[in-house]
Amino acid sequence: MTVLVVGSVALDTVETPFGRMEEILGGSASYFSYAARLFAPVQLVGVVGEDFPQEHVEEFRRRGIDVAGLIREPGRTFRWWGRYRGAMNVAETLDVQLNVFGEFQPEVPDEYRDAEFVFLANAAPEVQLQVRRQIPGARLVVADTMNFWIENEREGLLALLAEVDGVVVNDQEARQLTGVQNLILAAREVLALGPRLVVVKKGEHGAMLVTETDLFMVPAYPTTAVKDPTGAGDSFAGGMMGHLARCGEVTDVHLREALAFGTVVASLTVEDFSLRRLAACSTREVEDRLTELRQMTRL
Ligand code: AMP
Repeated sequence: MTVLVVGSVALDTVETPFGRMEEILGGSASYFSYAARLFAPVQLVGVVGEDFPQEHVEEFRRRGIDVAGLIREPGRTFRWWGRYRGAMNVAETLDVQLNVFGEFQPEVPDEYRDAEFVFLANAAPEVQLQVRRQIPGARLVVADTMNFWIENEREGLLALLAEVDGVVVNDQEARQLTGVQNLILAAREVLALGPRLVVVKKGEHGAMLVTETDLFMVPAYPTTAVKDPTGAGDSFAGGMMGHLARCGEVTDVHLREALAFGTVVASLTVEDFSLRRLAACSTREVEDRLTELRQMTRL
């Protein structure tokens, strides 16, 4: 089955201890799509400006990503400038220029409206909710968010959470959203806000899934080659949703597998700048890394 993503397509400037790259392809929908296409067909809804290199659009197409929903508007493309230092655990945002993304009112094309697996990447909760309501028949709608919306758009975010099936947050966001420090209890509080599944990402410490009937933990794949952590969260979501769309089912067992695939794909993303590593990656490589992870965690 197909997976639909709505989110940012960006030109990023990224600084890490391994170098500085300017105006490289980024954005939540880009990372998500490059990851999810390893598992299932992907449809992308987003916006770019007149300055967005056409070669990036061709690269999406070349990887089988359907970009009929990627529109070009007059103006400049969304830009994000971030820096990672030390252990590279947190991104310091140095600048954000929303440009055409700031005005974006996503319209899901008619041919995408029967999508069954949908990812609402980080955006204003009100915009995410508008999209959610355009796809009432979807089987699984999962949303991402960030600290900015938890602080500044809490009401909108709560309205969104009441209408989605799942949410992915990092540990800090789970605590900030609920005021609860223990992550398991925090995840359960999030469940009470509406979603039936909550995924808490803990960076190098792995990820946790909480549903009404399950609690599952997966450690991060221990890569020693981290160069640029940008997009880890979005490609995690891409691996997770891609696997679920490939299976066409959302049982606890499939969700557990999906979490493991998300973890493995994220570990590949961070091994190079931008989408380079994911661009060169095959489904076989992902499967092999999952086999290694299984061996490393077997008691
Ligand atoms: P991640 O590291 O998975 O959280 O995602 C990083 C990507 O998100 C970068 O490529 C940025 O272009 C994009 N990004 C950063 N801030 C925002 C924002 N406020 N809204 C949408 N996308 C963003």
